[in-house]
Amino acid sequence: MNTRFHLCKDGEEYFLQSPLLAAAGARHFFATRMGGVSEGAFGGWNFAPGVGEVTDTEANVMENYRIAAEKLGLSLGDVCRSYQAHTAYCLTVDDTHRGVGTVKPKFDFGVDGLVTETKDLLLSVRSADCVPVLLFDPKRQICAAVHAGWRGTVGGICGNAVREMASLGSDPKDILAAIGPCIGSCCYQVGEEVYVAFTQAGDFAACFTPDTEQGKYLLDLTLANRKVLEWAGLAPHHIDEAYTCTRCHGDYFFSHRRQGAIRGTMSAFITL
Ligand SMILES: [Zn+2]
Repeated sequence: MNTRFHLCKDGEEYFLQSPLLAAAGARHFFATRMGGVSEGAFGGWNFAPGVGEVTDTEANVMENYRIAAEKLGLSLGDVCRSYQAHTAYCLTVDDTHRGVGTVKPKFDFGVDGLVTETKDLLLSVRSADCVPVLLFDPKRQICAAVHAGWRGTVGGICGNAVREMASLGSDPKDILAAIGPCIGSCCYQVGEEVYVAFTQAGDFAACFTPDTEQGKYLLDLTLANRKVLEWAGLAPHHIDEAYTCTRCHGDYFFSHRRQGAIRGTMSAFITL
C-alpha cells in the first residue's frame, strides 16, 4: 500500500499516523481494519455495527473501541463519537460528552464534526470511503475530528471545524490538518449532480476529471478538502494527506464502494 502517512503496528492493530501531526505532538491515529475482534465482512477492527441484513455485535464494536482508546492510554468512557448524518455541523464537546456513543447514549442529532479543548477526551469519526480529517492547534491545544463525505465536503465542514476552533481561540495559521485514507479519484466516479453542486459552491473544478463514461467524473475528495481548509486560512504546508485509496486496498480498509452495506467501518481518533 502506498501512503504518505506512517503505517504503524501496536499489538495486533495497524494504524496510520500523519507525520505532520505526529511531529507536532498530536495524539492521533487513523485505524485500519487490521486488528480488533470482529469477523467476516466486519473483520477485524470495526467501529460500527452496520445496517445491512448482517451486522456486527455491539459488544465487538465496544471492544474495538476499548482497544483503540487503550493505545492512547485512555478508556472506553473517554471516547466521544460523532453521530454522522452527512451534515456540515461541528460541535464543541467537553467533559460532559465523555462516553457519548460508548458508555452513554449517542447524540440524538446529526453532528459530523467534533471540536474540543478538553484533555484526554478521545474524539472519534468513522468512515469507509468518506474522508476523515483530524485537526490540531499545537499552540492553543485545541483539536477536531471531522467526517466529510461529498456532501460534508461541499458543505464546507472542514471550514466549519476551523471556525469552531477559532471561536475557542485558535488562529487558523497555527492549525495543522491531516486528511486521512479515503476513496481515491482512481475509484470515485460521480455524476453530473455532484459536479454541479461543487462548482456552484466554489472553485472546485480542479478536483474533477471527466471519466470515460459520458456525464461522469472522477472526484478527488482529498484535494477538495484541502481547498476548503486553505480557504478557511490554513497554510498549504500545514495540510498533510494520506493519499491512499480505501477501495483499492481491501486488506487494509473497509470500503462502501467495494463491499456495499455489509461491511465494517474505520475510525479516526484524536485527543489532547
Ligand atoms: Zn482506488
